[in-house]
Parts: sequence; structure tokens; C-alpha cells
Amino acid sequence: MPESSPRASADYETARRDFRWERPGHFNFATDVIDRHAAERPQAPALQWSDESGRSLCFTFQELKERSLHAARFLTGLGLKRGDRAFILMPRVPEWWFLVLGCIRAGIVFMPGTPMLTAKDIRYRLEAASAKAVLTDSSCLDRFEGVMDVAGVTTWVSTGDAPAPWTRYTSEALAEGQAVAFPPTRAEDPLLIYFTSGTTGMPKMVQHTQASYGQGHLITGRYWLDLRPEDRHLTLSDTGWAKCAWGKLFGPWSEGACNVVYDFRGRFDPVAFLKVLERERVTTFCAPPTAWRALVLQDLKAVDLSSLRHTVSAGEPLNPEVIETWKEATGLFIREGYGQTETVVIVGMFPSLEPRMGSMGKPSPGFTVGVINEQGEEVADGQEGDIAVRVKPERPVGLFHGYLNDDAANAASSRGDWYVTGDRAVRDADGYLWFVGRSDDVIKTSGYRVGPFEVESALLEHPAVAESAVIGVPDDKIGQRIKAYVLLTPGHTASPALAQELQDFVKKTTAPYKYPREIEFVSELPKTVSGKIRRAELRATQKK
Ligand code: ATP
Ligand code: MG
Repeated sequence: MPESSPRASADYETARRDFRWERPGHFNFATDVIDRHAAERPQAPALQWSDESGRSLCFTFQELKERSLHAARFLTGLGLKRGDRAFILMPRVPEWWFLVLGCIRAGIVFMPGTPMLTAKDIRYRLEAASAKAVLTDSSCLDRFEGVMDVAGVTTWVSTGDAPAPWTRYTSEALAEGQAVAFPPTRAEDPLLIYFTSGTTGMPKMVQHTQASYGQGHLITGRYWLDLRPEDRHLTLSDTGWAKCAWGKLFGPWSEGACNVVYDFRGRFDPVAFLKVLERERVTTFCAPPTAWRALVLQDLKAVDLSSLRHTVSAGEPLNPEVIETWKEATGLFIREGYGQTETVVIVGMFPSLEPRMGSMGKPSPGFTVGVINEQGEEVADGQEGDIAVRVKPERPVGLFHGYLNDDAANAASSRGDWYVTGDRAVRDADGYLWFVGRSDDVIKTSGYRVGPFEVESALLEHPAVAESAVIGVPDDKIGQRIKAYVLLTPGHTASPALAQELQDFVKKTTAPYKYPREIEFVSELPKTVSGKIRRAELRATQKK
């Protein structure tokens, strides 16, 4: 594992100045990272797993090594070869981690999917990515009933008993000496393919290399999460999202921390979850904004959260109101991290930075992040532009290899010397970045540009608002008029008077031109399966 860089707790400016990407010819997360921890701290806890029924299991780094060796031999024994693609769909069961590490060791390209996918979604993914294998859990078998005819899938693996063509996988330990030799992978060999969240359209297939996610996430684990070997880290995500790679796989294990996993199957229950943080003595915790918004509505004094030393958020912008409430109750600031399935954390409120409410922070060590215009030139501080990562003369290691079979997406994300993220931001004079919105979500009204998030955050400060989604509706006079879909907190009832009150409230909380001219009260907001607000879906329902 490259050891080129100062520790996280080091001053941010020093870390940025001194960090250099190591570019080894060969890299493999299982052999270079997991096996190193197994050699140095064999008995240290690596995976602390528990579920809703109270079952609890702990695996050490030595056990992780042995079980992933067994998984690699099991998969190659079924005929899977380096470069073959395996679609893996499992809830948060320990087998997910053993099989994924087995794939990595053997050079099999794994493609995570969320257990919430339907048969139709699964067929799309298997076909789009030319999958060779399916790895699933007995609880997900029904999802494959209509897709067993997909051409090219030769290997079907489940954790439970199932008739042919399914083969049963049970996790076992395998001593090093019993394993066939897995030749080292090259740093640029393919590691995994993720499907993006599909917030704006069909999910795109993001290809990462052994280095780009396996090595690149040391930025996430070391600098942003600030992990140490004694930490017990929990990221709230299911296994199908890049967030899992960030916070439940590469991030914590890069630094030798314990990965705390709570396996729940139904809806996210904030009360139960707070108890897990208390019981497992979690020290660092990452959740997406949709979960943070639910967590801060609970009685935070009823749980002992004194083990926590860092709390962070990523995936969507986080409303300042939420950060304030959490800080009042726990004393901890929720630090944001910005990135994509395509990247590791590229902008973050790093621990040594002076926190600024509502800002995503500053560019990560190892990345040049610019705010650029259509010509690919950096705009002046205070001006809005596209968030972009400099890829020339050198591409940072923690950036994906490209979209699979999608020339249009590859072309759209490339501009001059930059990779363009598709998000808009402003950089202030001190170098902090302020998220404006996804390019498609930014509203143009009466000559102003308004990010929906600003309006949503203003609304959220009103006690009647639990959550909202703001879009621009085509308007002949002013281009677009601002419309808010509002979900009320319990005890409040929709009425024209309340709509008026909210409008007046926003006019006072933020610049008056940002107030929503239309308010619609709803009982649910459209979200992706990973919990992100789908403003595109709301826009599609609007006519002139
Ligand atoms: P798709 O690309 O399919 O529409 P998606 O972009 O939501 O889906 P992800 O890769 O999961 O898929 O999400 C990355 C996006 O999430 C970023 O481009 C950005 O819009 C948003 N995001 C992530 N972190 C933050 C953050 N801290 N603040 C604001 N937005 C964030
Ligand atoms: Mg995206």
C-alpha cells in the first residue's frame, strides 16, 4: 500500500502541499491492503456485523483474509476468470464483503446492485454490462425468476440452497498455503463497475480500476474520515451504491479501521439506528442527507453518542438547519464530503479546516478542482461555474476510468483539460466551495440563477416543513417560476394560509426573488432508491 502521505490530522494545507499519488505498476486491494493488515494486526477487528434480530458477528483482518482467499478460490473454481464481470446483489450480509474481496483478489470485476432492484432493473444491468456471473443472497433469489434467460450469464451463485443452475456459496476460511496463486493485478486493471444513482436519467456504468477506487479511497479514509486503526466506522448505505465503496469497504479498510455494519431490511428506522451507534460505540459516522434529516427529528438526548468523534455527510447537499440541530445536541459539526460514483471524495470539509456552515469544504489532497466556464477556463472567485477536476497533464488516481459503452456521456464529461462533474458551484475568496446544484436543476428565473437547495434549506427552517423539493416551472414572463413541493411535519395541515406563510417566511430568510411562487403540499417526494430527491421527475410533470 502506498505510504506517501502525511496523516489526516495533519494540517490541511500541509497535506495538500505534500501529497503525491503513488503510481505503482501493480495494485490489488486484497493482497496489498487486507493482507498487510492481517500480517501486522491479525486479531484486530475488521468487520463488526449485527442485525435487527440481535445477532452479532465479528471478523478479524486475519479471518477476512482467509475467507476472501476461500471466496477467490471458490469463484475461480466455478470457471470465472480475470476480467469476467460478476453482478452482486446482496443485503448487508458478511458474505458480500468476502465475495467482493474474493473477486478483487482474483481480478474478477464486480458490479454491485441494490437489493431494492426489480427483475426488470436486474435484466437491464446484466445485459448492459455483459455479466458472466450472478452472486446473490437467498433472500434475493425471487428477483431473478424472470431473468434466468439472460444470454452470457454462465454462473449463478446463491448463499442458500436453490436448484440448478444455482450453486451454493458458504463462507469458509482458507489458509494461505491452500490457495492457488493469484497473480498480482495491474493498477490499471478493471476493478468494478457501478451503476450511478440515476438521479437525472438512466444509470450510467462507471468503470473503476484497481487503483482508482482500491488505492484512491485512501483520500476518503485518511483525510476526510480521518480514520485510525482503533476507529469503529459506520457508513449508512446499502451494498449497491458507491457510498458503500467509500465508507463500508475501501475507506475504512485503507486505514485498518473496523467496519461496523448493521443489517436491516425494511425502511430506515432513525430511532433503532441511533441505538446501534450507541451500542456499537461507533467513533465515526457517515450518513446521506435524507437520513440526517430524519435523525435530527429524534430525541438525541435519549442516546449516549459520546463515542462519536466525527460525523459526516455525502450524496446530496446537507441543509444548514440539520447541521445546527445535530451540533446543538452532540457538539459535533457534520462535515460534508462531495464526490460522485465516478470519484473518491474530491471536495471535503476536512477536519483541520475551519468549518463553514453550508459549504462543502475545499479540494481534496491529490486533486485540482476548478470552477470553470463553457470554454474550460476557471471563473473568478464568487462566480458560478461547473465543478471540474483537472486531468491533464496528469489524471488523479482517484478518478474513474470512463463510462462503459457510453460515448455520449464520456464526451459530455470532458472539456479541455478537465473532467466535468455536471454540478455547479461557487468558490469564495478563501477557497471554500459552495454547491449550487446539479446543472439540470439550476433554476433561471427573472434573470437570476437559483439553486433549488437554497430554497429547500430556507423552507426547512420553518417548523412545519419536514422536507421539500424545489424546481423551475416554465413561465412565459419570467423564464421559470419557482415551485416547491412540501412535505409537512406531523401536526401541521396543508392550507392556503400555510402556503402564504411559507412564502413570506422564505422571502425573509433569503433573497426575496428566491421565494416559491407556487407551493404544493405532498405526502411523499419522488426519490431514487438511494434516497435522493428526483427533481427531474417533478419537472416532467409540469407543463407551461
Ligand atoms: P446520475 O448520475 O445517474 O444522475 P447521481 O449523480 O445522483 O446519479 P451519484 O454518483 O450517486 O449518482 O451521486 C453523485 C452526485 O451527488 C454528485 O454529482 C452531486 O450532484 C451529488 N452530491 C454528492 N455529494 C454531495 C455534496 N456533499 N453536496 C452536494 N451534492 C452532492
Ligand atoms: Mg451523476
